[in-house]
Amino acid sequence: MTNHPHYVGRFAPSPTGPLHFGSLVAAIGSYLDARSARGQWFIRVEDLDPPRTVRGAGRHILKQLADHGLVSDHPVVYQSQRLQHFDNALSILQTEGRLYSCNCPRRSYPGLYPGTCRTRELSGSQPSALRFRVGETTIQQKDLVQGAVTWTYGKDFGDFIVHRKDGLHAYQLAVVIDDIAQKVTRIVRGADLLSATPMQTCLYNALGVQSPETLHLPMVLGRDGQKLSKQTHAPVINTASAADNLNQALAFLNQPAIASDNPKTILSAAIKNWRTDRIPKLMGKTL
Ligand SMILES: [Zn+2]
Repeated sequence: MTNHPHYVGRFAPSPTGPLHFGSLVAAIGSYLDARSARGQWFIRVEDLDPPRTVRGAGRHILKQLADHGLVSDHPVVYQSQRLQHFDNALSILQTEGRLYSCNCPRRSYPGLYPGTCRTRELSGSQPSALRFRVGETTIQQKDLVQGAVTWTYGKDFGDFIVHRKDGLHAYQLAVVIDDIAQKVTRIVRGADLLSATPMQTCLYNALGVQSPETLHLPMVLGRDGQKLSKQTHAPVINTASAADNLNQALAFLNQPAIASDNPKTILSAAIKNWRTDRIPKLMGKTL
């Protein structure tokens, strides 16, 4: 067990539907990692995208988590209530010349955005997105499970959107601004978000803040090899079998099972047993 008195971790679900097993694994992984380091753990609801947000899903997810013994140490933060902070960050980046307007339709570039609008001066009248002008050529990260990863600008990532054409703040911006505000020191999440790391690191660099450590857990894959998600209609977690769900998540992360029917008992034993070197070093793993 490490002793990191300042460890702050989080679980940040999008309220697009109830919790499924894939999100439960991310919730438990982040919780156990924080607790085993005697750190704080909180929940943030990423309800930034009103068209995708399902009414009541945020509350439902919090209830499902609580039924598994997972309760935030701080009042739950809702991204929809933090828009002013995202605007402030955009102003700072704008002032520093890190942003440019882009009105390229998505279909106009097949893969990575090639930076078409970097040197174009768009007039302010047409609706356009704001992109971050990446300065770095490579980003390196020593992920605590996936190991050393390097991303190259123009090959693995490009200038990315921080404010969308439809007026919404983009995910990459909101995540970074909230993690900075909440002083998150280590991000534990599914490996589907590993590719978001270089863009988020660019934002940390631009804002002069040290980027957090990352620990990317293997994604939970269904029998079809696809990531379990709300889009692929992953089954909703049955909270009546909370103890079984917890043990199934522990098994997925290659942690010892705990013989108990009580979620709190399972969690406190699992905190003591938690070892990150046991987590499968995989991007995805079938159930
Ligand atoms: Zn463009």
